[in-house]
Formats: sequence, structure tokens, C-alpha cells
Amino acid sequence: MPTMPQPYPLLFEPFFQDYLWGGRKLGTVLGKPIPPHGVWAESWEVVEHPTHTSRIINGPLAGKTLADVRTTAADWLLGSHCTAAARFPLLLKYLDCQRVLSVQVHPDDDYASRMPQPDQGKTEAWYIIDREPGARIYAGLQPGVSPEDLRAALANGDVERLLHVLHPEPGDAVFIPAGTVHALGAGLLVAEIQQSSNATFRLFDWNRVGPDGQPRPLHIDQALDVIDFHSGPRTVQTPQPTASASRQRLVQCQKFVLDRVIAPGDILAGDDRFHIITVPIGSARLRYSGGELELSRGQSALLPAAMEKTNLELNGAAVLLDMFEPAP
Ligand SMILES: [Zn+2]
Repeated sequence: MPTMPQPYPLLFEPFFQDYLWGGRKLGTVLGKPIPPHGVWAESWEVVEHPTHTSRIINGPLAGKTLADVRTTAADWLLGSHCTAAARFPLLLKYLDCQRVLSVQVHPDDDYASRMPQPDQGKTEAWYIIDREPGARIYAGLQPGVSPEDLRAALANGDVERLLHVLHPEPGDAVFIPAGTVHALGAGLLVAEIQQSSNATFRLFDWNRVGPDGQPRPLHIDQALDVIDFHSGPRTVQTPQPTASASRQRLVQCQKFVLDRVIAPGDILAGDDRFHIITVPIGSARLRYSGGELELSRGQSALLPAAMEKTNLELNGAAVLLDMFEPAP
């Protein structure tokens, strides 16, 4: 392994996607440097994927990509337990949903590895930062829906009545395991943590057409292959206490843990695991051996696994999300 610098919080250049369902809130609310015109749907904060790989913008590793660091210093970045990872395993995004997204489902690792263009599976979770009154999330099928029911509804274009509807509040988290039918509705500002994957099967697009006037392609056979008809209805997560009074566990699954830190005095890192952190509300300051870092609203950082314990200060009503891999 090459000599690595003293571990420090890595900052990345965000990568924006201009899908039609987006808006301007990535810039106006979260302070992202989106271009001055157009609608912007997603900001990819921390990612290594064939579609895009994050580039470091601070410190001694500035200019290198996440892939560069992983391939040359997996221990330093990922921790001693997962040096064999073929890519950085998690992807953090912000989403500005101004229109309802397509109804979709993601495969698990096994199915995704057998696709013509193999990928990882995609289990994901959402943290609701803000919502318009009445905004909806579709999370799982209604109880008892069969493949035949779903095929008939798809043929009639009236899938919505088969979907479980949630009306989330700011601060809610929703967990969407691979195989769960889902859609984010209009009027939601969301942070999403997921496996680093683009494997998505679109089931229903609300009878809309794309920018070229044509319906976007659907993947109904693949979707029906991977749907778990028992996953759902899904409800919002009940926050669980942790050993730290300032920290609540929102999601724990085989692929990631999502914690919310809402009071100062928390300790991050120092556990031989990487931590992706982001500040959807307010601002935060990290003090670590070798320096300190201020994160403003909407900013994200990656703490390498080699990082020592880091003191966290939050300003006022700030919220910090901490995402990492579960213990091996
Ligand atoms: Zn999804």
C-alpha cells in the first residue's frame, strides 16, 4: 500500500442529474452549485459506479477519485474487513422531486449479478428533509396483491390503487429493500442512501411521455421477476435509541446503517469503518486530529475507515446523517 496521508474528511464535487421530475431546490434549499437554468433532480454526493465516480476536492488527495483511493488503499478507506470490495459499496444522493417518479422496483444482488450488464442489487432508504402538504410516497403493494392483479392493473393503466400510500413528515425515514415496489411522489426533498447501483426496473410511468413525446421504456417482465409480493405495505421507520443520547438509529440492514445525530457532543469514526456524513438541516463542525471542518447545509463528507475518533458539533437544530456498513 502506498503511503497515505493522515486521514481527513474527504469532500467531493457533486454530480447533478437533470431528470424531468426535478426542480431548483438542490440549489435554493441545499446550496448546491446547480447550473443557473433548468430543472435538477439529483445530486450524487458520494459514489463510485460506472455511471460516475466522485472526485476529491480537498486536502492532499484533491484531484483523485474515490476509485483511485479504493484501489490503492482499500484498508485506509474501507477498513480491514472489506478490502475485497469491487467498488465503493454505498451511494448517497439528494433528490428534489417536483413530480411523481415512475413506479419501480430494484433487484437484489443475486439477480443484478446475472443481468446482461451486471450491477449490484439496490436496497435503499430515504430521509425526508421537507415535503409539500399532502406529498405522497408509494411504499410497497397493498396486502394480498398477486402477480395477476398487478399485470391486469398494468394493462389498464391504474396501478395506483394497488400501492400502499404514505404521507411522510420531515424527519421520517422510509426503508425500501430490494424487491419492494415504490415511487417517490411530488413535493419531496429527500436524502437517499443506497447500494451503489443503477439497477432499476420501471413498472409504470403514470401514462406519461418523455421529452421526445414517446413513453419511456418499461421493464415489466424483469420487474415481475424481482418483486417481493410480501414486501409492503411499508411504514415509516421508528427511530431506535443507541448508546449515544444524541444519536438515533433509523435503518439497520445488511447493506447499511442510517443514523440521525441531533445534538452536539457525538463522536464519529474511530471504528475501522468508513462513514458517509451529510447535513440536511443546519450546519456542523468536525474536530479531528489534524484539523477541523465546517459542513454547511447540504454538504457531505466521507470519513475514511482509518480516521480516528472525531468530535462533532451541531449548530442549533441541525441534523447530521451518518451512514456506514454494519459490523461484519
Ligand atoms: Zn428506487
